[in-house]
Amino acid sequence: DWEIERENIQKLQAKYDQINPKDVIKFSDFPLSKKTLRGLLEGQYRQPTEIQKQTIGFALQGKDVLGAAKTGSGKTLAFLIPDLKDELLKIHRTNIIICTPGRLLQHMDENSTFHASDLHMLVLDEADRILDMGFADTLNAIVENLPKSRQTLLFSATQTKSVKDLARLSLKNPEYVWVHEQA
Ligand code: ADP
Ligand code: MG
Repeated sequence: DWEIERENIQKLQAKYDQINPKDVIKFSDFPLSKKTLRGLLEGQYRQPTEIQKQTIGFALQGKDVLGAAKTGSGKTLAFLIPDLKDELLKIHRTNIIICTPGRLLQHMDENSTFHASDLHMLVLDEADRILDMGFADTLNAIVENLPKSRQTLLFSATQTKSVKDLARLSLKNPEYVWVHEQA
């Protein structure tokens, strides 16, 4: 029940400080809930890819992350797995919104019932392409509407370390993770 769930989560959270990507071989080497680990196994995901090994720990620790690794390297699970952790604690009061920048801004501008004031985590996937494809102004407007205290994860297939881009997305002291691997 809810109390036991909360206790289990606290036990896992107590281990976040000790996460060392170098020690991680299996997903179960991360302090993840039994439900998450079971879900991964059922999906035939056994070992984290390099970008997953190097970023899941930072994301669990609440740090901002800027991760770059080529297409097909597994960036989706690198941000979904830590999302899953939050879900248990927040499902009764939070939704996960997956959308394009344009649609999100439309809701902010036109939908009076939509408030982003309780947003905890912003994930920007394909961030390099979002910035390249002329969404910079849209993104600026979105970020202005978001709470300042939030965790931001940014994933892309190429490095986007330009100061301009970071200022725009207002990441705080991000962990840079760049993976160059064959697979
Ligand atoms: P990216 O966003 O980096 O281009 P994806 O997240 O789309 O990559 O993942 C590419 C493919 O790799 C997907 O089919 C996904 O199911 C698979 N995949 C991701 N992580 C793992 C893993 N740890 N083990 C096996 N397959 C994985
Ligand atoms: Mg992707």
